[in-house]
Amino acid sequence: MGMSLASIAVPIEGELTSRAHAEPPHPYRTPFARDAARVLHARAFRRLAGKTQVFTQALGGRPGDHFRSRLTHTLEVAQISRTVALALGLNAELAEALALVHDIGHPPFGHAGEKALDRALAPHGLGFDHNLHALRIVTWFEERYPAFRGLNLTLGVREGIIKHSRDYSSAAHPELAEYFLDLRPPLEAQLIDLADEIAYLTADIEDGLDSGILETNSVRSGVPLFRLFYDDACTKYPAATSRVLAGEAARRMLNALVTDLIAEIRRRIESDGIASLYALRAVPHRIAAFSPAMEAGRAQTKKFLYDELYNSPGLKTARAHAAHVVESLFARFIANPELLPEDHREQIPTEGLARTVADYIAGMTDSFIEQVWSRTSPRTGNLSS
Ligand code: MG
Repeated sequence: MGMSLASIAVPIEGELTSRAHAEPPHPYRTPFARDAARVLHARAFRRLAGKTQVFTQALGGRPGDHFRSRLTHTLEVAQISRTVALALGLNAELAEALALVHDIGHPPFGHAGEKALDRALAPHGLGFDHNLHALRIVTWFEERYPAFRGLNLTLGVREGIIKHSRDYSSAAHPELAEYFLDLRPPLEAQLIDLADEIAYLTADIEDGLDSGILETNSVRSGVPLFRLFYDDACTKYPAATSRVLAGEAARRMLNALVTDLIAEIRRRIESDGIASLYALRAVPHRIAAFSPAMEAGRAQTKKFLYDELYNSPGLKTARAHAAHVVESLFARFIANPELLPEDHREQIPTEGLARTVADYIAGMTDSFIEQVWSRTSPRTGNLSS
């Protein structure tokens, strides 16, 4: 198993367990286990089931109930994050909470939706960032508790939401001052971004093959990591179908990426002589990373998926439609704020119209935004819903 990094793990007591509204401790659950449960029971979490990961429903006329949604992707990230955290002796409950919440701020239609919202907000001097939006959801939009708005999550989980995938400068984001912007996040947060990548790279190969957009041979030639495991499985199981062999290759690829990540984190902790959470946070670079050889394999895999899958004609068409729906609906709400639901209209005086519209759209699932879009379409002449 190797040494445990327990001395670097986020402890279950202390500063990072503090909440904006103080709450008595739970008799048998840690603060981070409670946070994971709060996320799991949130409305925004359930909506992930209706949000695109890569494939929208019935892409190119092929029904795809088994393609990953953002919800099943999230569960896969949680499984990987928990595995890595446990193997290293880190705080697995914090890692799980962060994995469960990591995509909660995503608008409908995957990254196409996020980019479209960002473009729509630009003329208003604003932008859309799914990490910052996730923070708005957990600190305000979720309404389940009579004592406070939001989920009242621990400081550790809120910091991880903001910092798991990138750093924000304190000069550009004074409102994030409480999240230690000059320090690196704990390892439990750092590993989320890599677990996310491991999950989607392997899943997208599988779903890409299933959709018929990718072919086994092109994956073999474009992704050396896949070829290694696919060819080995072919030799071992000559009677297996290519679909099962591809699944086996993707599974072994996932395992190899996870194993490499665990070993490389240990290696860096040792070579940098990091012995405490404080020391980890003070290091100028991130510790969670793949080894140079695996990093090259990861980059190669990602480039292949961009060229052959994400930028394939079918997905490009779906993205163009998504961008059109998001941007035209945004413009429609800006011109007709009375079309917004009342609880959203109430936010206009404090948040401004543009942010309020973006918040409303970001919360929608793929099917709901399509409904609202056609219901309010000027072509039907029915603007009053
Ligand atoms: Mg993700």
